[in-house]
Parts: sequence; structure tokens; C-alpha cells
Amino acid sequence: MGARTFTTGRRIVARLEHGGDLLTQVAAVADAHGVTMGEVRAVGALRRAELAYYDQTAKTYEPHAVERPVEVLSLVGNISRRDGETAVHAHLVLGEADGRCLGGHALPGCLVFACELVLEELVGEPLERGHDEVTGLPLWAAL
Ligand code: ZN
Repeated sequence: MGARTFTTGRRIVARLEHGGDLLTQVAAVADAHGVTMGEVRAVGALRRAELAYYDQTAKTYEPHAVERPVEVLSLVGNISRRDGETAVHAHLVLGEADGRCLGGHALPGCLVFACELVLEELVGEPLERGHDEVTGLPLWAAL
């Protein structure tokens, strides 16, 4: 286990562009405001989604596409660094037309219908992601 303290900085609010990629736009908002470490939350809707479930035994992401409009009931995630670039790690809870939910790890390919994002800046030395041998995941290193 490792932990580090950050202080909260700016709170940036953005409306994402219709038809654009969700994760690309979240990273672009962070980059445009110079946020290298932060927490993200959003609500809205997607035209389609690409989710993944991490198989802990196989240590691989199992992707599954959602080829229909869905509500973004909750996007929660964070901004940090990976290989010197902005890394967005986000999970989605999506709502179906009949009220059922599905969710998972957000992959590139989630297309925005409408999305309201709140990005909370965390001030301090940003965390860098690196390969974790135990889980196989790109986790925060050097905490
Ligand atoms: Zn994840």
C-alpha cells in the first residue's frame, strides 16, 4: 500500500462535444487547463460505448461494445500520467432505456451524445502509471 497527499486546486467544468470520443475529450480538457493530476466526474449520454471487464486470472481486459444509446448515470475516474502523457482512468455506470444498468472500465470508442464533466485538480507531484507485476495493471507507481 502507498498513499500520498495532494491539495485540491481548481474545479473545471466542461461540456463535451457531441460525437467526439469521451476519453480523448476528458484528456483534452485536462491538457488545455494544465491539469496533470485530478479527479473526474461526469453525467450525460453516449451514442455507443466501449467497456471492459478486467479478468484477474488471465490479466487481460475483456472488451464489450454497447451499440446503442445509453445514459451516463455515473462516470468516475482520475487523471494522472503514463509514459509522459495524460492518462485518464474512468469507469462508467450506464443506463438502458428500460432502466437497467451496465458498466465497466471505459475504453476509447465511447462516443458522446451529451456530457457534463467536472474535473477537480489535485495539486502536487503527479503520479506516473507503471506496470504492476502482481495485477498486470498499469497502476500508480512510487507512492
Ligand atoms: Zn479501470
